[in-house]
Amino acid sequence: MLKILVSACLAGHPVRYNGKAKSAKEAAHEAVLARWRDEGRLVTVCPEVAAGFPTPRPPAEIQLRRSGADVLAAEATIKDNTGADVTALFIAGAQHALERALAENCRFALLADGSPSCGSSFIHDGAFSGSTHPATGVTVALLQRNGIRVFAESQIAELEAEIAHDPVRSNRRSV
Ligand code: SF4
Repeated sequence: MLKILVSACLAGHPVRYNGKAKSAKEAAHEAVLARWRDEGRLVTVCPEVAAGFPTPRPPAEIQLRRSGADVLAAEATIKDNTGADVTALFIAGAQHALERALAENCRFALLADGSPSCGSSFIHDGAFSGSTHPATGVTVALLQRNGIRVFAESQIAELEAEIAHDPVRSNRRSV
């Protein structure tokens, strides 16, 4: 069984900074997620909760328009909107997510875009103004560094296509 690491908030868990889940925008996406859940494919993880953050919690952003890769390289920090430096916890959450992915042999991940942890096509720019820029979050940077392909929720159809043609799945079916 090919498994998919998925952001817990996308899987319906109310773990976002605001105490809510992040539902898929389209019913078709919800249906795909429900099918994967029924098939036992989903490995849910919230890097921030795993690292010890409470829910709800102050929103946090990678500072100065930098990226998750910059954070892993100790070239950028993450602060919440009170000014607290939460960089170490975000890195710990990313490491937890990677450990889960490796333990469950996940080659793909479906993560919530825009998050300083899970964002893959954009994140917020660090000014807490609502502005975003194209970059990845810390968890995404660490997963990609370890060969795991990350998809945003807007790319769920692309992930579905990848899984449909996955040779591991096909081989196991034919055994
Ligand atoms: Fe969702 Fe990821 Fe944020 Fe957790 S860290 S609430 S899984 S986007």
